[in-house]
Amino acid sequence: MATEFIDKARISVSAGKGGNGAVAFHREKYIAAGGPDGGDGGNGGDIILQVDDNMSTLMDFRYKRKYTAENGMDGQGSRKFGKSGKPLTIRVPRGTLVRDAETNEIIQDMSSSEPYVLCKGGKGGWGNCHFATPTRQVPRFAKAGLPGESHDVILELKLLADVGLIGFPNVGKSTLLSVVSKARPKIANYHFTTLFPNLGVVYVDEGVSFVMADIPGIIEGAADGAGLGHDFLRHIDRCRLLVHVVDVSGSEGRDPAADFDAINAELAQYSPELATRPQIVVANKTDIMEDEALLEKLRAHVEEAGYPLFALSAASHTGTRELVLKIAERLSTLPPVTVYEPEYVPRPPKLDTSAPLSITVDDNTYIVDGPWLERLMANVNFSDYESRMYFDKMLRESGLFARLEEMGIQDGDIVSLYNLEFEYQH
Ligand code: GDP
Ligand code: MG
Repeated sequence: MATEFIDKARISVSAGKGGNGAVAFHREKYIAAGGPDGGDGGNGGDIILQVDDNMSTLMDFRYKRKYTAENGMDGQGSRKFGKSGKPLTIRVPRGTLVRDAETNEIIQDMSSSEPYVLCKGGKGGWGNCHFATPTRQVPRFAKAGLPGESHDVILELKLLADVGLIGFPNVGKSTLLSVVSKARPKIANYHFTTLFPNLGVVYVDEGVSFVMADIPGIIEGAADGAGLGHDFLRHIDRCRLLVHVVDVSGSEGRDPAADFDAINAELAQYSPELATRPQIVVANKTDIMEDEALLEKLRAHVEEAGYPLFALSAASHTGTRELVLKIAERLSTLPPVTVYEPEYVPRPPKLDTSAPLSITVDDNTYIVDGPWLERLMANVNFSDYESRMYFDKMLRESGLFARLEEMGIQDGDIVSLYNLEFEYQH
């Protein structure tokens, strides 16, 4: 049984490479030489992310850190196209943020069930059947497939819940969740029982429900990394409302009002924004309350701070229904759960364009290839104007056009770069 809760992981993903195009010529008995019939290479498989509601941690990514989708197969003669590589689907828990490992920018918030293509597979290379033109009937070349996109990303789980339970260990958070929802969290009379956040759906009324998360106990100094709890604070980032549970039994000799302040101080230290999140305060364990004065002191303190207080006993189910109704009412006035907007801006790869490209001439076609060009083409989005301008700039800077001129290229000749061909114009 795993006891560790993994909610952050770094992985490397690569989509499949495109297969190479084939050089082949049609041959039949009694026909001496046919036309070019080499088929295209298949596209490389994509890397796809998909939410899986049976997952609640990023544990799977602890040991497996490299993910590669299948390559496309090479094309063959008789216009046989290479098979496309199978996409690789990586399953993640709902609420996983995908960040760029270098810049930490959010690439995607995996909150919805829509699959997300994280890396596109490389395009398959064209076979020589593509290159037969009236002036170029015997193309003896085909194109290599392009590499797939690859990326180092950080996965970060931020639970999707309307309500987050906060409070010291042992105050009764898990008990409360188990009483008001169908979740069955572990409950025991010692600190730190909850090592994993638990989610429970609370049904209020027909068609009205909310999701409540039981976050492992925050302890003093947690925001400084002093103990368990720090890592868990990120799980309440998205919550619309916090239910702050305080033990008023006095059984552990604690002062409920001081506990309340200590937790709020932790929150504020971790995130000032989180400290301003609406709270409903629950004074729990009233069934074993030894000194009513503790409750009254807490009530005065909490109300002065501007929060409502509910005294109840989770274990004996007293006052819990009222709390649920109050939470539902409050939620109806609050904005929806935060879904993070993507911030990541794809940047063109840094390439050393001084490395010479290879140029071969076939009739009036200038076939250009080379490793940096391959990488550039795999990363340029040709349907985007700025990307095309960038591509053009890189080619110019590399001195490619000057070299073509030197080789005697004429207007109307064809420049052939992998799956891109254009007529040369001065
Ligand atoms: P958590 O650490 O905040 O999740 O606390 P738990 O829900 O695990 O509860 C800690 C202990 O307090 C358990 O032994 C519970 O049975 C007990 N407990 C929780 N709520 C109540 C309550 O309302 N009354 C009493 N008497 N005990 C409670
Ligand atoms: Mg607990």
